[in-house]
Amino acid sequence: MGAGADRMSIDVLVSEVGPRDGLQSLKAIMPTEAKKAWIRAEADAGVPEIEVGSFVPPKLLPQMADCEELVRYAVTIPGLHVTTLAPNLKGVERAVAAGAHKVSIPVSASETHSQANVRRNHAEMLQEVRRINEMLGELPEERRPVFEAGIATAFGCTMEGPVPEGKVLELAHALVEAGCREVGLSDTTGYANPAQIRRLVRMVRAEIGEEKLTGVHLHNTRGLGLANAMAALEEGITTLDSSLGGIGGCPFAPGASGNIVTEDLVFMLESMGLNTGINLDRLLKVRDVVAEALPGAEMYGFTPEAGLPLGFHPGWGTT
Ligand code: ZN
Repeated sequence: MGAGADRMSIDVLVSEVGPRDGLQSLKAIMPTEAKKAWIRAEADAGVPEIEVGSFVPPKLLPQMADCEELVRYAVTIPGLHVTTLAPNLKGVERAVAAGAHKVSIPVSASETHSQANVRRNHAEMLQEVRRINEMLGELPEERRPVFEAGIATAFGCTMEGPVPEGKVLELAHALVEAGCREVGLSDTTGYANPAQIRRLVRMVRAEIGEEKLTGVHLHNTRGLGLANAMAALEEGITTLDSSLGGIGGCPFAPGASGNIVTEDLVFMLESMGLNTGINLDRLLKVRDVVAEALPGAEMYGFTPEAGLPLGFHPGWGTT
């Protein structure tokens, strides 16, 4: 895909978030050149979409200070869809200036989490989303990125505990009304289980329309990442976020990985005969690029440990 393969032939879009979500929670700062090599290597392996960074103030997250440069670099890779995170209007403006194809703003379903994270409640976040949409609306179409809101803590919050589903529905509805093209659901805390995923995806799609909820962002904190991914797929979700080597494990829970592992996710999908456009052999080799640039950082994944099964080929598990 990165080499310009056909995006339309993909069954499930695997969106690599390692350079953003993975690195964001690490203390070590990866050099910009190493990030570029990582992005390039994944694109060359066929990864169709990469979230290359976050437009947060560099003072808050020095790891993301090179986001501009990374976007400018990544958009030159043919066929690669370049996404970023931005917490506010200013961040989205920076993303637009750099030429990102898609920007997502995290909006927490838990008001306590929202206050702690961005010091804004729901009403203030919705106001920000409206201002962003106004700004985007004035841009010529070819410069306008897809604008999505990711509902963080949609399946539970480390500060509030369970998050009522009604609250997620209400927020999804309000975000679409405020102008978001799409809404995603994020299991920020790794609390979700497959039954919950199935229920909430179904409810939100019924509320805002199927085409407005196509992606979920899952973590593997409690080992349910792939089970949750399957539940989401069975409800019609077609975009799954993951990170190479599952990097970005929570510093407060040693041994607990963060995002679902891209290599394991791609193995599951490809062996089921679902086309991701990704060459698994090449993807596995990208680990070396990342490991070299992040000495000592933990990398996860069962498939990389065990290796590919003898005679593996896409769809091999379907016959
Ligand atoms: Zn995450």
